[in-house]
Amino acid sequence: MNLHEYQGKSILKSFGVSIQEGRVVDKVEDALAAGKELTAETGTEWYVVKAQIHAGGRGKGTVEETGSHGVVLAKGIDKLEETVNGILGGHLTTAQTNGVGKLVNKVLIAQDVYYPGASEPSEFYMSVLLDREKGRNTIIYSTEGGMDIESVAENTPHLIYKEEINPKVGLQGFQARKIAFNLGLSGQAMKQMTKFVFALYAAYEGCDASMFEINPVLKTSDDKIIAVDAKVTLDGNALYRHPEYAAMRDKSEEDPTEVEADEVGLNFVKLDGNVGCMVNGAGLAMATMDIIKLSGGNPANFLDVGGTADAERVEKAFNIILKDKNVKAILINIFGGIVRCDRVAQGVVDAYKKFGTFPVPLIVRLQGTNAKEARDLIEASGLDVISVTLLQEAADKVKEVLA
Ligand code: GDP
Ligand code: MN
Repeated sequence: MNLHEYQGKSILKSFGVSIQEGRVVDKVEDALAAGKELTAETGTEWYVVKAQIHAGGRGKGTVEETGSHGVVLAKGIDKLEETVNGILGGHLTTAQTNGVGKLVNKVLIAQDVYYPGASEPSEFYMSVLLDREKGRNTIIYSTEGGMDIESVAENTPHLIYKEEINPKVGLQGFQARKIAFNLGLSGQAMKQMTKFVFALYAAYEGCDASMFEINPVLKTSDDKIIAVDAKVTLDGNALYRHPEYAAMRDKSEEDPTEVEADEVGLNFVKLDGNVGCMVNGAGLAMATMDIIKLSGGNPANFLDVGGTADAERVEKAFNIILKDKNVKAILINIFGGIVRCDRVAQGVVDAYKKFGTFPVPLIVRLQGTNAKEARDLIEASGLDVISVTLLQEAADKVKEVLA
């Protein structure tokens, strides 16, 4: 589950990671009071106004309606309302929004932490994630923070460092010091960075995150180390342990069809192909997607209906798949182990009848327990359903109906 920057920062703070303090507002009228509160707390009268959307690249992004960037410095309380007004309620397009502006429902008004000083502040990059090949949490970091890390990785890969954490002993002091050293720090800044890395890693483990990306991590001219940005992704499967984090979910940032599927308990991921699939079991669902690919189509979704593929669930699954106007055919592939194929077939027939005319060709493969009864049932229904037995036949039929 992805979080907004302000939510991610509140989690980081609760684990002792120093962050750029701020207040979130969803109305321009609240900006002034928030700014005053913040000044009382931090002493600074300069503010950074930051659009809260689930996408990065906001600093360089543009608000369609006003031409403002998504991260803007307001030099003084008298500039605050105007700055907030330029961002809040607008549509922000960034390199990560796929060409569609995202509605900004909230902005974060943060303290300016880039005080001008004799020595320039430095921006670092730091992320924590699971290296799946090594099976270990890894801290990735770089001196080249602030900008787009992908181009650093491409042009100057030697400036990106990795530190693997051994799960048996956890993050070690020498590792945190090595990170600070590689970032070119010494003295007080080194101490602060070591503390920062420990707190960040504790937060990563403690909140069951699947990814942290802090870009930039800022070293101020007086050697404070601060998380200025926070992209926090939590492991959805661990959310039951953290009801307070589960409540942070912002459904308006998610694919509406996926939200709907989730509400009815279907395992659904939208893809951009043309063949809808309805399958029981994640493994078979993936194999079915491969078959669709091999037959020249492209899966429009991943959908695991689970063990109880009854009429109600089949109907809900149909509704969800058919919302996608790219879908040109649907392939149902069910293996009856515990679930009986004839029950699924009855579900398909009942759901189909509700539609009256079915908008796309429907190919059904039911194998396993009571497969024969299932086929008989479908044939007897007289509905326009293509019934197949073998996977190869399913693939051939997909090819045929797409042609
Ligand atoms: P992103 O563009 O979505 O990654 O948003 P960030 O939170 O990383 O902010 C973008 C940029 O705004 C940062 O890289 C900083 O250079 C700048 N920025 C962030 N906070 C401050 C601040 O307190 N003062 C100033 N002057 N610039 C800031
Ligand atoms: Mn950033």
